[in-house]
Amino acid sequence: MAHLQLHKVGKSYGAVEVIPGIDFEINSGEFLVLVGPSGSGKSTLLKMIAGLEETTSGKIMVDGEDITHLDPSARDLAMVFQSYALYPHMTVRDNMSFALRMRGEDPAEIDRRVKEAVVMLDLGGLENRKPGQLSGGQRQRVAMGRCVVRNPKLFLFDEPLSNLDAKLRAQTRIEIRRLHERLNATSIFVTHDQVEAMTMADRIALLKDGKLQQIGSPQDLYLRPKNTFVATFIGTPE
Ligand code: ADP
Ligand code: MG
Repeated sequence: MAHLQLHKVGKSYGAVEVIPGIDFEINSGEFLVLVGPSGSGKSTLLKMIAGLEETTSGKIMVDGEDITHLDPSARDLAMVFQSYALYPHMTVRDNMSFALRMRGEDPAEIDRRVKEAVVMLDLGGLENRKPGQLSGGQRQRVAMGRCVVRNPKLFLFDEPLSNLDAKLRAQTRIEIRRLHERLNATSIFVTHDQVEAMTMADRIALLKDGKLQQIGSPQDLYLRPKNTFVATFIGTPE
């Protein structure tokens, strides 16, 4: 069974229909890149999956369970944003353990999970630093660490690399893919960068004006574009 299923998921802001109704499925373990021009509805779609925006119509299913109207905190997923709002007064360790401490998890278990995430994200030796004493890439990894410690099955990334320079962006792409494999996660990664999409994706879903243009492997979209928009978007690197 698919891990995540969207059935005619739609969104309107007042009278303005931003997403008429989207259908797709993601298998467990899959890395799906959701790509499209600015304003095409990528963030809105992710927020509906995360429960941060109400879904106007349709149904969102995870492992066969309808989560369309479930509270965000009750969803087994983590969302990584472009601006990683770390707590500036807290150490790396405390930033990473915050959510678990709020939930009242066992301190020994918290310690174990943070240590594991520190190794996974190559943050060893930085545990006692504050965000102001870290590089942009390290801060981004702490932000991911905060999600990793919760051990969610589904990761939602909303353009997490757009604040990074080209070199760091390339490196972080690889780190995110590696993390995805190690955690055995299912991921949706949003970007407006077609190169990012082509290099990271198991499958690409291309969105325009809130409508899915095509979903398939990078090769599929490149070799067999369904329309001129897909051909132009995928075929023309920045
Ligand atoms: P993307 O992430 O692909 O750039 P968004 O999902 O942010 O696109 O936006 C999709 C469309 O929805 C845009 O036309 C945007 O102006 C509109 N939109 C987003 N959020 C709101 C909101 N809170 N109220 C009204 N319109 C919105
Ligand atoms: Mg966006």
